[in-house]
Amino acid sequence: MRVLIASSEVHPFSKTGGLADMVAALAKSLARAGIETTVLTPLYRGIAEKFPDIAPTDYLFDVPLGAKRVQAGLRRLPVEERLEILFLDQPGYFSRPSLYQENGADFADNAERFIFFAKCVAHFARYSPAKPDVVHLHDWQAGLVPLLILDQRLRDGWSSAPRTCFTIHNLAFQGNFPRSSYALTNLPADYFHPGGVEFYGGLNCLKAGIAYADFNTTVSPRYAREIMTEAYGCGLDGVLRGRQDALAGILNGVDYDEWTTTKNPFLKHPFTARQLAGKAKDKLALQAEMGLPQNAGVPLFGSITRLTDQKGIDIQLGALEEMLAAKMQFVLLGSGAPEFERACQQLAHKHQGRAAVRIGYDAGLAHRIEAGCDFFLMPSRFEPCGLNQMYSLRYGTIPIVRRTGGLDDSVIDAGDDDELADGIKFSEYSARALAKAIRKALLLYEDKKLLRFFRRNAMTADFSWERTTAEYLRVYQRARGLAAA
Ligand code: ADP
Repeated sequence: MRVLIASSEVHPFSKTGGLADMVAALAKSLARAGIETTVLTPLYRGIAEKFPDIAPTDYLFDVPLGAKRVQAGLRRLPVEERLEILFLDQPGYFSRPSLYQENGADFADNAERFIFFAKCVAHFARYSPAKPDVVHLHDWQAGLVPLLILDQRLRDGWSSAPRTCFTIHNLAFQGNFPRSSYALTNLPADYFHPGGVEFYGGLNCLKAGIAYADFNTTVSPRYAREIMTEAYGCGLDGVLRGRQDALAGILNGVDYDEWTTTKNPFLKHPFTARQLAGKAKDKLALQAEMGLPQNAGVPLFGSITRLTDQKGIDIQLGALEEMLAAKMQFVLLGSGAPEFERACQQLAHKHQGRAAVRIGYDAGLAHRIEAGCDFFLMPSRFEPCGLNQMYSLRYGTIPIVRRTGGLDDSVIDAGDDDELADGIKFSEYSARALAKAIRKALLLYEDKKLLRFFRRNAMTADFSWERTTAEYLRVYQRARGLAAA
């Protein structure tokens, strides 16, 4: 089988969140399972300089975009057997200081940029020499691809068109644009209705994916159920319920080549579930790096997050205000909404010597926080999958999570199964409930034997990609089965 994956982010070339990690790991894992895998993604600024092995190709895109035509080149990076990454080279759209925004505001031409991307993906699926059997699209930036492919199958004689799988990584990001943007798709008006791409009078790219893909997936089983409810559906719960026979929740895996406590270039002191001495040293090193007093005996809590409403920053700040009076330390690495950045810095200022905050994006520090902390806070309002709690588990850092989405699917509380317990969960979205969970963590920290038991369970929990990949292969087969039907 041959699979074409399209995503606006792919680690290590571009990343604003878990999407990039997931796509890179899925692609690698598919190739290792024997699938010919190609990933198509934009060539953003700096990628070519950082990865000089990315080579030009002769392939040239020339696609209609409303009334004009737009061209792009294609560059190629063979990664390993059966896996290549292709980069869409259109500097006007993609060579910018960041991926989607400038000074906190979305680029005004995001619709044009990503409709162009979607068109190139569909074009490549049809005209490249290696024809894919399945095209796997990710998030709103690639959401129009299933419709573009379907339309060409129905109206343009593409009888051998591949089947499409669409994965929703976060229903909150939908790619909503004014109705006028729809003209850029060059699609007939037939699809612009409430059962199609229309959403409150505008164009909704995510909805296009949901409505027209042969199969939809999201990144955890619980999130798949949640998004079919009004509370979590972001206005699309009805469309999702309508497609529930073709919707599956597949928990993301973890790339354990990268997220490892041994042979990790970011960690000074390696450790394993049996040999935790390195973790204790990583803790002291982290305290020093963050400017906190070095003290092996104080429980250290950590957080690595986009500072947005989704991640429960408000209840985290509330709970910490209360709990930092206790004997504990807290470190945070994050960036996002200016008001949350300010509030986090104020917290650190007020609780100097107990709380330390680093605003910014730093992959190395993310590993050191995962390794050096005793507990990891992830009190998300909603969480499609979440990767950090799974990284925490592997690093023996006990996650404290809210019972939602992928957090609920990946962490085991003693109340769920006391033999397998590896984390602490709470349900109510409130600072009070989180503070209570932190208090439980402080008690756990005092019980060294029980803490070791939690840590061992955590570090041996297995979220490797083989299982996830097998599930995606089943979905691809189902999608292909639809072709035969
Ligand atoms: P989301 O995709 O919603 O942001 P996930 O937990 O699925 O959340 O994935 C977040 C990914 O981004 C993880 O790999 C995490 O380590 C990384 N990350 C988030 N913020 C930062 C940051 N400030 N510095 C370094 N890595 C970060």
